[in-house]
Amino acid sequence: MELSIDLLKQIAINVYDAINPILGTKKAAEKAQRGAGGDISMQIDLIAEDVVINTLENENVNLLLISEELGERYIGNKEKAIKSQNVLIIDPVDGSNNAVRGIPYCSISIAYAIGRTINDIKKAVVLNLNTKGIYWAIKGEGAYLNNNKIHVSDLDITDKCFFELNLPMKNFFKHIDNLRPIFRRFFRIRVLGSSALTLCQLAKGSMEAFVNLRETNRLVDVAAGLLILKEAGGEFFSLNGSKIEGDLSIYLKFPFIASNDKLVSFLKNELSSNY
Ligand SMILES: [Mg+2]
Repeated sequence: MELSIDLLKQIAINVYDAINPILGTKKAAEKAQRGAGGDISMQIDLIAEDVVINTLENENVNLLLISEELGERYIGNKEKAIKSQNVLIIDPVDGSNNAVRGIPYCSISIAYAIGRTINDIKKAVVLNLNTKGIYWAIKGEGAYLNNNKIHVSDLDITDKCFFELNLPMKNFFKHIDNLRPIFRRFFRIRVLGSSALTLCQLAKGSMEAFVNLRETNRLVDVAAGLLILKEAGGEFFSLNGSKIEGDLSIYLKFPFIASNDKLVSFLKNELSSNY
């Protein structure tokens, strides 16, 4: 059975109800054991993930859950889950460090695939855990913020473009050097701290590009945001300009560039000469 967009939204709202009241509290920041994605989990991550699991178990669904803290786990009947090819890719809290410090920029990211590759992602929800705004998309049917259709901006590189830059600490200054031609042409840089939510800023035309060069960027962080961006008319690609592909897995990590359609050729050209 195919999962509905309403179920994905309900999971996100349930997480909002549990998490929003504890944003910025000491309880949220307590360290915990679990953490399959490579980061050390905090209480806020585990509380959010437990809400996801409980919601799914109450719905009697059969699927493979790929989630940041638990890794990969079948929910419901494993054989039926494999046969249906239902996969949910979830980051229960994207921007956990913002969330526990009370910086209002964090989200829950939910992508739903029928199949095992990035290309099989069919539905996506990203909910802003501060404002309760829901970004969502269904493949082939456009992207929305709540009930309003959204679209990437039409600014090009001669306009006052905003971009987010997320760099690894390793070789930080080397990257800064390589990116000099890009810095020169953009109007403002932001580093906001939730990749899922920033992809949605691009999707609704509030920002123009996102350069995320962190090798540790995980599929769970961006699986939903990438579909929402795509459905809003944006694009994403790897550093050498190629299409981003891969099998859905907790271990899948990749740097990427995302932007509105107007900036694609500028970014590909500038990056190809330096990377
Ligand atoms: Mg997280």
